[in-house]
Amino acid sequence: MVGKKDCIYDVVVVGGGSAGIAAAVGAADFGARTLLIERSPYFGGQATNCSIPTYDGFFTRAEPLEQVVGGVGQKVIDKLSMMNACQQPLRSPWGNVMVPVNNEAVKFVLDSCIEESGADFLLHTQVIDAKVIDGEIKAIECVDDNGKFTINALAFVDASGECNLAAMAGGEIFTPKSADMQVGTLLTRYGGVSQKVDIRPQSIKEAISKARSSGIGPMSKDSGFAMRVPGSNDVITILANECVDGLDSASLTLAEVAARKQARAYLQAFRQFLPGFEEAYISQSGPQIGIRETRHTVGDYMITREDVIQAKRHEDAIARGCWPVERHSNPGALAAYEWILNDSYYDIPLRSLKVKGLKNLWAAGRAVSCDLIAFASIRVMGTAFATGHAAGVAAAVCKGEYTFQIDQVKKELIRQNAII
Ligand SMILES: Cc1cc2nc3c(=O)[nH]c(=O)nc-3n(C[C@H](O)[C@H](O)[C@H](O)COP(=O)(O)OP(=O)(O)OC[C@H]3O[C@@H](n4cnc5c(N)ncnc54)[C@H](O)[C@@H]3O)c2cc1C
Repeated sequence: MVGKKDCIYDVVVVGGGSAGIAAAVGAADFGARTLLIERSPYFGGQATNCSIPTYDGFFTRAEPLEQVVGGVGQKVIDKLSMMNACQQPLRSPWGNVMVPVNNEAVKFVLDSCIEESGADFLLHTQVIDAKVIDGEIKAIECVDDNGKFTINALAFVDASGECNLAAMAGGEIFTPKSADMQVGTLLTRYGGVSQKVDIRPQSIKEAISKARSSGIGPMSKDSGFAMRVPGSNDVITILANECVDGLDSASLTLAEVAARKQARAYLQAFRQFLPGFEEAYISQSGPQIGIRETRHTVGDYMITREDVIQAKRHEDAIARGCWPVERHSNPGALAAYEWILNDSYYDIPLRSLKVKGLKNLWAAGRAVSCDLIAFASIRVMGTAFATGHAAGVAAAVCKGEYTFQIDQVKKELIRQNAII
């Protein structure tokens, strides 16, 4: 149901991306009176707002495939499959296992997930402040075009990607130096492409190289990933990189304008030098430049690079991560990968979701507590569904105090078909 303003909830989730949807559905399934708040006109976060074309982190790299995310994430995949809007798991040219999805369909599927869950929800609503007493968030201040309003709750989930609620409420956070921050990328969708076009990385590279020699630009990357959008002939490319501070409107403005110039240059390059692209046009850019990294929370446990690479197990595991470390640190470079031991998975402990300094705030998705290298694995959307699901259930079960309730959180996650 549409959320009520000036109301008291058990659990409020800020941000309706992969993590936030899973958190709200998980909390509502436990029976908590739940509200999900999103500032965009649709749910999905970067899947819909930046047209990210694959759900990563559902399957390890092992052969045969091993699935490590179930629960709400699986529910989303099932609904997409029923709409023919998602493909079977596919290996990337680097051997990673992805689930290609149709981004438009994601909007409809997430609407239906949240409607069926019994959680309340509000789109077009931005959270702008928090009221904190004795280390406990009592209420959040929101804004729409009518003005400001307040929502009270017993527990909160920060699924904003940028750790916005943690920052507003005075929780422990840190922001990497800009040189250490991963770059942003404007995804571009091209229509009018022949069915026969060869979009393997080597062909893309050769076309860009010829275009550079003939003076076409600006183009940040010499090669990169392109794929067909499930259910259409369109091709999506992940090429137009920009250094950007995703928290700062001036920096975002510069990056968006510059990246759109790149999108047009790549179009020109492919029309001239990639057979099958002669009639192509840009059917969509963005809409927003994809932001990989901004702030991070500090939790009761911080997941490290070693935890990820060594496939570490934890007693209080509530989710699994399996995407390799994938860092995009330079606008001109391909992603740098580090692999997980035996192509396995690592555990994500409940402690890494509990934000330090605030008794009743849980972190999900990109906001989970980890170092910068571990983050380059944890940030993908399959893992965001898993940590979001756990954060929502933890908020519903424990509100704030959790050390004696870990078994109950695990039991509830298993009841909701999560893989932990
Ligand atoms: C270029 C690029 C390519 C990527 N490719 C892939 C890929 O192929 N596969 C993959 O799985 N992952 C990929 N990722 C990573 C992935 O998209 C993100 O890390 C993932 O979306 C994180 O999910 P999330 O729910 O934590 O955050 P997000 O998806 O960022 O969602 C956060 C939501 O919170 C909302 N929000 C924020 N602040 C507020 C506020 N104050 N009030 C209300 N709402 C708020 C935002 O509008 C947003 O909808 C890619 C990322 C980028 C940038």
